[in-house]
Amino acid sequence: MKYNSTRNSTLSVDSAKAINDGISKDGGLFVPNEMPKLDKEFFVRLSKMNYIDRAGEVLRLFLTDFTDEEIKACTKGAYAGTFDNDCPAPLYRLNDNTSILELWHGPTCAFKDMALQILPYLLTTSSKKVADGQTTVILVATSGDTGKAALEGFKDVENTKIIVFYPVDGVSNAQKLQMMTQEGENVYVCAIKGNFDDAQTGVKKIFTNPDVAAKLAENGMAFSSANSINWGRLLPQIVYYISAYCDLIAEKGEVESYNVVVPTGNFGNILAAYYAKKMGAPINKLICASNSNKVLTDFIESGVYDRNRSFYTTISPSMDILISSNLERLIYDMSGCDSELISGYMAGLSADGKYEVNDKIKAELNANFVGGYATDDETKAAINETYITYNYLADTHTGVAIKVYNDYVKNTGDKTETVIVSTASPYKFSADVLEAVDSKSADHDGIKAMAILSEVTGTKIPTPLSGLDKRTVRFEDVCDSDDMIKAVYGYLGI
Ligand SMILES: *Cc1c(COP(=O)(O)O)cnc(C)c1O
Repeated sequence: MKYNSTRNSTLSVDSAKAINDGISKDGGLFVPNEMPKLDKEFFVRLSKMNYIDRAGEVLRLFLTDFTDEEIKACTKGAYAGTFDNDCPAPLYRLNDNTSILELWHGPTCAFKDMALQILPYLLTTSSKKVADGQTTVILVATSGDTGKAALEGFKDVENTKIIVFYPVDGVSNAQKLQMMTQEGENVYVCAIKGNFDDAQTGVKKIFTNPDVAAKLAENGMAFSSANSINWGRLLPQIVYYISAYCDLIAEKGEVESYNVVVPTGNFGNILAAYYAKKMGAPINKLICASNSNKVLTDFIESGVYDRNRSFYTTISPSMDILISSNLERLIYDMSGCDSELISGYMAGLSADGKYEVNDKIKAELNANFVGGYATDDETKAAINETYITYNYLADTHTGVAIKVYNDYVKNTGDKTETVIVSTASPYKFSADVLEAVDSKSADHDGIKAMAILSEVTGTKIPTPLSGLDKRTVRFEDVCDSDDMIKAVYGYLGI
């Protein structure tokens, strides 16, 4: 299998090159040039396997330049002993036709772990093939979840170093503590004075500065990216949509089709579901759930992507996004791989913040996707109702998905088996979850709210989040956004 760029369909590289480089030089994203087609036997066979073996079976279809031994080393390294009960993506049944796919049993309690636990293995294996002996330096700007998950994934991984910048006042108390107390010999964390955009802009400047690249090269190093434009982050996400279907088969025998509901920000997670559908997983509707930043809801309805609108800070912060970068991969596919058309749309997006897709893509969107959104109050009401009805505690992002699914059922009467994707532990957003289930006990301090939430609901604080305030602080540096290069050189000792 080869990989093309969404902005140059004639470019053709191996998966190792696509993963090592992260993004194509023309600014496009790497996409597989064909979709493997799976038959019923494939799913039945996988339904008898554990998650690690299922992941191996899916990955080998896409990483044809990897050996089976290499793939096995990647999947075992990522998923053995790192998730609760060695079960990275369990299905929790809510009622006859609805279950919750819990993707937050990893080391940082958010679904980013599903991909960021394996990306370091995919990346180091790829780098050995295309740039042997080099030290890969991962640079991350984070608004919370990605930075911590990347740190946990890359800590003490051979031939890598990871540097994370976060806005000093832009992350939650718990998220800050998670990063300041990070362990590992190859990690560095620094707060910057400014907001997330300042951190992100600073990182992009360092990435594209040729003098910095030359200085790294002199020292046997090169930068790479751990965010969701990298194919190595998207591919592992296809696995759990296939795994969920295998679990449904194992549970129910015959399952004709299933809907998936995905709380969406950058469009990486739901795009993986679309790819699973293209491969033959019998997914009926892909239900895209947004918070008040509902640029995707409007896009699915009208075919117009327009980021010129107010930005809202919500209780589901990991979905507070107005540019969903992975959408480019979707419309490339729906256009029939027309990279010229996509380049035009993306030029429109950067010039005017806006583009409108053609009728062919609109028809494809309509056939596959349903969009919806939830306000903060609606999200809290959904968390409350789910807790009262099913004694199930959902986080704020999952709450958005539940509300949008309830609307969908009301509007359509569709009784198809449905998998609602749950992207974070409720304890990661404990202040808002506590307010939703028991407003009398609400407490705005996330650390205190964790303890109260545990008491009120009789559920356990996940180990990675308990005792956060008692761990040793290792990283207290704060720098101006203009001094980020100095901080990078200082840490790398160059
Ligand atoms: C990142 C994230 C999302 C959004 O996922 P995308 O792949 O960006 O659409 C949703 N929920 C949580 C908790 C996240 O961390």
